[in-house]
Order: sequence, then C-alpha cells, then structure tokens
Amino acid sequence: MSHYGSPMPQPYPPGARLLARPETVEPCPACADPLGRGYPTCLTCADRVDAYWRADWDALVAEQPGEADERELAATVLAGAPADHPWTCVDWAMRQSSCPLCRAELGAGLACVHCAKADEARWAWDHAAMPGSMTANEHMLRLAVAALRATTPHRDNVLTYWRLVLPFLLVGGLPTPVQAGRVRIHLLAGRADELAEAGSLADMADLADLPWRTA
Ligand SMILES: [Zn+2]
Ligand SMILES: [Zn+2]
Repeated sequence: MSHYGSPMPQPYPPGARLLARPETVEPCPACADPLGRGYPTCLTCADRVDAYWRADWDALVAEQPGEADERELAATVLAGAPADHPWTCVDWAMRQSSCPLCRAELGAGLACVHCAKADEARWAWDHAAMPGSMTANEHMLRLAVAALRATTPHRDNVLTYWRLVLPFLLVGGLPTPVQAGRVRIHLLAGRADELAEAGSLADMADLADLPWRTA
C-alpha cells in the first residue's frame, strides 16, 4: 500500500452507472413515444439516453489536471487500452472524433473501412470486461445506441428492432433470446405498429397470432 498517489485504477471501470435509470417506461415529453424510442432524432429522447454517457465523460474531464481539451482527451482515450476507461467514455470519444475518411463521427460510417475498424475495436471492451463490469443490459444498450447512430443504412427491421426495445433497455429490461426472436418474426410480418403499442418486452413477444394463422 502506497501512502501517496491514487490507487491503481480498476481495469474495465463500469459505465452508465453514475445516474439512476428510470424505474418505468414513461412517454417522452417531446415526442410522446416511450422515452428513448425517438433516439437520436427526437432531441429529448437522445438527451435522456445520452445522459448516461455524458455523466461518465464529464467525470473523466473533471479528473484531468487543469483545463482539459476535450478533443485531445478523446484522442488520448482512443489511443489507450480498452481497459483504461468506461465503455461509455470510449463511445463518447468516438463521437467527438470525425473519421478521416468519411467525415462521419468515428465508427458511425459502417460502409467506411476506417469506421468499420473503429467500430469493431470498441467491442473489445464488452468481450474482455471482467464479470460485473458490464451487465447484459448495458451491453445491449450500447449495441442499440451504436446501431441507431450509424449513418450507414441498416436494414429497416434492424433499426426498428432497436427503437422498439430501447425504452425497455433504458429501464433495465433485457429481452430473452426467445423474446428477441419472436419480436424479429413479428417485424418480418410487418407488425411494427402493433409492437410499438405493446407495454412490455413480454407483450411484444406475445402478440396474438394473426387471424389468418389461427383460422
Ligand atoms: Zn422523444
Ligand atoms: Zn468513416
């Protein structure tokens, strides 16, 4: 034990835990959809979701000696080992860096080789993190937000899936693999509107069979 200096930082410090999550899914005061579903187009949805990332980034900025240049800090974070910072700070640093090839925020232009490489590198955190550093809910929240920020067109159903589940992820929910599979089947059947009305992940998965199927 040293008498001075700070203790060795914990590798893979957890992210998105500084602020409490909402306890229930509430409508967004701006777009009236369940909060988070409008990410990132609805600024209020975006703001409430991004708050978990921003809190970690602000804490990192506050730790820097003197006045931190946030762009330099972003470059330092991205040059470091994945274990050095919370995953939220890696994401935030990527957003503040523009891709030298496609000019999108780094990692968002998935049709761009440079972005694809940066995007792939960020997931090293999730794969290598110590148990307890990241929950399955946090991993899925990170996936949802990264997919919804990407400038490269995903298949519509992929984006719709993430929009549908994001409000439930935000309150700590996690679709089981069976629920996720059923929601995707309903999406392929063109039932996005019915899914959007469902009040829980379980209700989404359990949409009643279409009349022509039961007849
Ligand atoms: Zn909204
Ligand atoms: Zn790019």
